[in-house]
Amino acid sequence: MSIVDFDRLSKIIEIPAPARQLLARPEKQISFALSLPLGDSFFYADAHVVYHNTARGVAKGGIRFHPDVTLEETQNLAELMSLKTALTNMPFGGGKASIKADPEKLTLLEKDSIIKEFVHMIRKEFFYPIDYIPAPDMGTNPRDMAIIYGETHIPESVTGKPPRNGGLPGRREATGRGVARAVEMAAERLISKPLAEVTAAVQGFGNVGSWTCKFLHDKGVRIVAISDIEGGRYDENGLDVAGLMEHVTPGGYLPESQANAISNADLLALPVDVLIPAASGEVVDGENADSVSAKLIVEGANHPLTAEADAILADKGIPVVPDILANSGGVVASYLEWRGAKSGTMTKQQETYQAVEENMCETFTRVADFAGDEMPLRTAAWALAVQELVEAMADKGWY
Ligand code: NAD
Repeated sequence: MSIVDFDRLSKIIEIPAPARQLLARPEKQISFALSLPLGDSFFYADAHVVYHNTARGVAKGGIRFHPDVTLEETQNLAELMSLKTALTNMPFGGGKASIKADPEKLTLLEKDSIIKEFVHMIRKEFFYPIDYIPAPDMGTNPRDMAIIYGETHIPESVTGKPPRNGGLPGRREATGRGVARAVEMAAERLISKPLAEVTAAVQGFGNVGSWTCKFLHDKGVRIVAISDIEGGRYDENGLDVAGLMEHVTPGGYLPESQANAISNADLLALPVDVLIPAASGEVVDGENADSVSAKLIVEGANHPLTAEADAILADKGIPVVPDILANSGGVVASYLEWRGAKSGTMTKQQETYQAVEENMCETFTRVADFAGDEMPLRTAAWALAVQELVEAMADKGWY
């Protein structure tokens, strides 16, 4: 099932029936058993690769390595990538891959072997490494991308690599950099507050959450709560973000401490200016949306709100900056990495930051202007992205 509400969008933009059919389901997908000997036993996991739409370019999207990931979730995430690349005008299509296993239970070398086997498997099924370009997502990191590069020997076959292995300075922190810029624009435009007076609660302290905290803290925002999967910390005077970042462990775990503890459920209900879900999907749903007391939500994670939650928050008058806009900094930086790998040019960290921020400012303004006073930002972002995809498919003669 599609994430996009096409019935709602059809009242705003023209979506020819064949285009709707093409967008309502993935273009192609494979599911396979990832199986290999590890030590004295066999590792076995379900894996999926989904190409949602490639009218605008090759399928781009991260690899999620998580014990609960499903094919449906992978499809949803691939669809979001089609929308995100179209909205931000990046020359890619939308894709996603997943491996259903717990990376925390693996040694470094075991994970390396699994990633290598994953590459071998998709090589058999797809025209990889040409038509799908992976990047990190939950449970995968720059090292894993370096392992993929080691298998393909093609620098543009994967993004999110460490800078010394053909990666881009600034890619690691790009998503957080973009989320922080989105918060700045939304605070000014939607709740009329200077950043120095803004308080924020951030769920998730992995790649996206931690860098979002760092950049917001640098801009003067008071980060009052942060969490990982096991729970979080709360201090109404503001947390020591720099100290926490120094001690965060791989996988996004906060350093152990019982001080100032807060549960993830309570964090989501805090009366802050900005709530930033930056962990897993569907954490705010029909059950807990009514308890959200933030003035604004900025989606660092992909699909952190269900459709029911969206409707409840709209009734409460809480604006939501949607995922395909708020967390698009990662794919903008990935584009720079891919372009540099193809052309042999180099990019400096500050140039990456500048490109991410410029794209965020331009796209945010376009979405907010299109939304006006009545339309939710998510609907406006979907409409602009779907319009672009509809035209790209027509240009290619797909319908
Ligand atoms: P990560 O694996 O680096 O970190 C995830 C963090 O969330 C960790 O702190 C983990 O403990 C926490 N977490 C996991 N499940 C949780 C739960 N149920 N409740 C509370 N906390 C939980 O992942 P990441 O790369 O930071 O990705 C986070 C989100 O951002 C995902 O939705 C991902 O799709 C999205 N995203 C990531 C990027 C990127 O560049 N990495 C880009 C765009 C969007």
